[in-house]
Amino acid sequence: MNEKYEAVIGLEIHVQLDTKSKMFSRADNASEMAEPNTNVLPLCMGYPGTLPVINGQAIEFGIQGALALGCKINPMPRFDRKNYFYPDLPKGYQISQFFHPVGEHGKVKVDYLAGDRKTKKEFEVGITRLHLEEDAGKLVHTKDATLVDLNRCGTPLAEIVTEPDIKSPEEARAFLQELQRIVRVIGISKADMEKGHMRCDANVSVRPKGQTEFGTKIEVKNINSFKFVEKALAYEIGRQIEVLEGGGALEQSTRGWDEKSGTTVEQRGKEGSIDYRYFPEPDLPPIYVDQKDIEAAQKKMPEMPSQLRARAEQAGLSYNRIAELQDGNKLALAVAVLDTNSKLEAKLVANWVDKFDKEGDLIKFLETVVENNLSATAAQKYFETGEIQTGTGDIEIKKIVGDVLISEKDTVERYKNGEEKLFGYLVGQVMAKTQGRAEPALVARILRERLTK
Ligand code: ADP
Ligand code: MG
Repeated sequence: MNEKYEAVIGLEIHVQLDTKSKMFSRADNASEMAEPNTNVLPLCMGYPGTLPVINGQAIEFGIQGALALGCKINPMPRFDRKNYFYPDLPKGYQISQFFHPVGEHGKVKVDYLAGDRKTKKEFEVGITRLHLEEDAGKLVHTKDATLVDLNRCGTPLAEIVTEPDIKSPEEARAFLQELQRIVRVIGISKADMEKGHMRCDANVSVRPKGQTEFGTKIEVKNINSFKFVEKALAYEIGRQIEVLEGGGALEQSTRGWDEKSGTTVEQRGKEGSIDYRYFPEPDLPPIYVDQKDIEAAQKKMPEMPSQLRARAEQAGLSYNRIAELQDGNKLALAVAVLDTNSKLEAKLVANWVDKFDKEGDLIKFLETVVENNLSATAAQKYFETGEIQTGTGDIEIKKIVGDVLISEKDTVERYKNGEEKLFGYLVGQVMAKTQGRAEPALVARILRERLTK
């Protein structure tokens, strides 16, 4: 990136809520599974005379999500109509929340492993709002027609809007990954980007460093993978800088990411911006959120991913290992084991946690490994066969070391006269006599003790 400029990024993310039924009807919230246009009730198709009913579970999920993002909960959220015409929206409007969202003014602290896989980085993102809405249907483009599938109509969504606090494509990706972990741990969404459970619109502008006003914002719509978010933003930042450097001006517009060409492509300019004519939804009452509901939701709140990472660091795990375990969904198990048995070494736990799903099993296994002083090889054998090989304990190694010191008398002499590199050779001789079953570190320790006597 051109050193003279800096990027400003704000994200709008749609998270599909994992409720039993749809946002305003009792239709199954399982549109992915069904044949096109089979998972629809008259309401989903916008038939006249149908009326929406609010899904209580969706409201609970919304409150849970807003709390997890540090938002203030609105005591009286409401729904509004967002009007626009599109073939996948039979009602001609989407029920959303514009004036009174479920939550506002949140904040998320993110720490993440930088691209070099070594450095821990941290930043904060303000959450402007979390509001609830219903999804529209889907258009399927074939060779000679465009087909409409209304299964997805009415799927509950939480839309999360961030402040323009994000400073790089890498941070944008890290934030989205953290958001995914958060909504998964509280259990409100499967949040699989590839499956469209989580979709992101990325707003980005650039400005000369030191300038306080924001540059012109461009929105890249509907990005469906973490990798694409990073790539689309990097491309778009470069493009905007190039336009400005060439003496040109940017206009507010909406673009799309084209993976094939690796570029963003203009979809609509400023003149194409839509007036949604928002007004309060007359068919739905406001929702009264009691302080008691908020407290109950707060009580149900599990440990946040950042808190788990902090505990893992305290337990002695390296940050880079923490990130790996987190990616493999094993961090909670590793930390639970370290919590239960504080005598176990963090590194040992981290090395074995991938092979276990239950805390009790892992602890039992590791305690056996430690009690019997098993080498990595012996531990692996024990894991595979259940047999404990005890032939290479301290006592046997000491005996072998003694033998080697006698048979390698000359080498020992040269070592003591300053040829330090011969130490490795002596370790090798002992290892060979144990058929490689001993722990090299243990052999080295015993050997060194004997040689300095
Ligand atoms: P709009 O009215 O066009 O929807 P908003 O003010 O609601 O714009 O912001 C939408 C998103 O764009 C938010 O995530 C916000 O943080 C982000 N955003 C706003 N201004 C900028 C800017 N100049 N550069 C980058 N992102 C921005
Ligand atoms: Mg907006």
